[in-house]
Amino acid sequence: MHESPRGKLLVISGPSGAGKTSICDRLLERLPKARWSVSVTTRPKRGREVDGEHYRFISGEEFEQLRETGALLEHAEYLGHWYGTPRKPVEEAIANGEVIIMEIDVQGGAQVARAMPESIRVFVLPPTMDTLRARLEGRQTESEILQQKRLAEADGEIAFAENSGYYPYIITNDILDDSVERVREIVTQEM
Ligand code: 5GP
Repeated sequence: MHESPRGKLLVISGPSGAGKTSICDRLLERLPKARWSVSVTTRPKRGREVDGEHYRFISGEEFEQLRETGALLEHAEYLGHWYGTPRKPVEEAIANGEVIIMEIDVQGGAQVARAMPESIRVFVLPPTMDTLRARLEGRQTESEILQQKRLAEADGEIAFAENSGYYPYIITNDILDDSVERVREIVTQEM
């Protein structure tokens, strides 16, 4: 009997402002059978985000319930809010031979690396810290304090990615199209 190939879990991490979301958006267009993992979060909705599309925005109680019942594959706290990946869509995608793209922080990436060592994990670096600062400051949807907090997180995230061994692929997002192509190649090689 012919068995359908198992799918792949693709983890994309990187400091806020490195361009992860832009890379993921284009990857979804270029990778056949790719789907986006919609995380749950307790942080407030920002800008043009759509509930159920970018995130599922839930209360702290709802988050706790999901966590306690084992419905989350991984979860982490980032700047005072909780984020987590619902387990079921990931398992379904893998069983269907799809690539599921998870844009998560490094704490989540470490959990996925331990639970699913066969996952593909890519860390996205900004070309320079000045670029990162400029990109964050360009976000109209966030307060200056929040932008500074995200920037302050970046050094620790980068050091963790470089030293923990959980991110075999570290790429610098200089030209967006090149980065997308690089990640597409990585995924194709690993399939
Ligand atoms: P933001 O508030 O900018 O959307 O996300 C803040 C951080 O949380 C980013 O590093 C983002 O990748 C990460 N994040 C988003 N969803 C999840 C998730 O489900 N789990 C984990 N661990 N991190 C997430």
